Amino acid sequence: MIQRRDIKSMDIAELREALKALSIPAFHAAQIFRWLHQGVTSFDEMTDLSKANRAKLAEVFEISVPSIVRRQESSDGTVKYLWQLSDGNCIECVFMRYHHGNSLCISTQAGCRMGCVFCASTKLGLSRNLTPGEMLDEIIFTQKDTGLRVDSLVLMGTGEPLDNYDNTLKFLRLVSCEGGLNLGQRHISLSTCGLVPRIRDLAEEDLGITLSVSLHSPEDDVRDVLMPVNRAWPLRELIPACRDYFEKTGRRISFEYAMISGKNDSRETAEKLSRLLRGLHAHVNLILLNRVKESPLLPSSDAAVREFTEHLRSRGINVTVRRRMGRDIDAACGQLRASHLTKEVTGEEELP
Ligand code: SAH
Repeated sequence: MIQRRDIKSMDIAELREALKALSIPAFHAAQIFRWLHQGVTSFDEMTDLSKANRAKLAEVFEISVPSIVRRQESSDGTVKYLWQLSDGNCIECVFMRYHHGNSLCISTQAGCRMGCVFCASTKLGLSRNLTPGEMLDEIIFTQKDTGLRVDSLVLMGTGEPLDNYDNTLKFLRLVSCEGGLNLGQRHISLSTCGLVPRIRDLAEEDLGITLSVSLHSPEDDVRDVLMPVNRAWPLRELIPACRDYFEKTGRRISFEYAMISGKNDSRETAEKLSRLLRGLHAHVNLILLNRVKESPLLPSSDAAVREFTEHLRSRGINVTVRRRMGRDIDAACGQLRASHLTKEVTGEEELP
């Protein structure tokens, strides 16, 4: 069987080229692009194309349509989806409703190979990279299901976006295209565990997105244990790359910091963190560690979080403590996918 081409991963210029080869007028490219980003599931829904052209397109192109395996809705309005892709792989995304608009947290890979010890997404390794079209689908089909618009986007679901660099970059360009989802890059945050060479590449891309770096500790020995990536790119390489990123792009970096009891939450650690970040004009986003079944680590106490926050503020650092959404539905990274896969593999039950 001939493999049909994934049409949703194409930009308008590529579509025009492809149409030319099929003797379909190039002006249809923008219409097709719009239909795809509205979530059509077949070429027959593209009613401004002739039947003959629709048939030609269906012969050579495939429209990806993920199906919902599980959908969990929290009392705070958060909706978590587990989608099945065309090859059977499952990915998750989380839709959150805030006063300032709706935000979607999307996955960039099926699984992850970064090995952070506190993270459920990485326990079963990397299955494969997502295509740009599959990343778009997370938004397109969430909008279709909820009937609501996604106003902002965080690339903080399963996977390491910079480990799937080319597809993620193409996705970022497609998602902010006029005529498509038209989501401004100012409303997009990309989170990385710290792939230094790729952070340096990203600085050259001329994007308006916000870069988040998962820091979790200002000390190499602690970070080495929590995040194996630190053994390849320790803080003495990561922090200068962040500094250069800020200087090159003029965009402040946001540092993610999961508060873990007894590991990274003391006053001394707060002091070290404030020194490490000096001059970076950085923003620190504290997250209370979400307990996951696979890890014995515990979240810090409220008092420890308060003290840590106050210490950083006293040193002039901009700190926020992230509100936890969807606590009643396993909304932490990778938990739904992990529990689904574990159940499939072992028949084991999830945590209540
Ligand atoms: N690979 C990217 C993006 C995915 S993870 C990265 O590492 O940044 C999104 C964020 O959730 C990261 O900051 C990650 O460290 C954090 N995270 C993962 N598991 C967590 C947990 N159990 N509790 C709190 N934060 C967690």
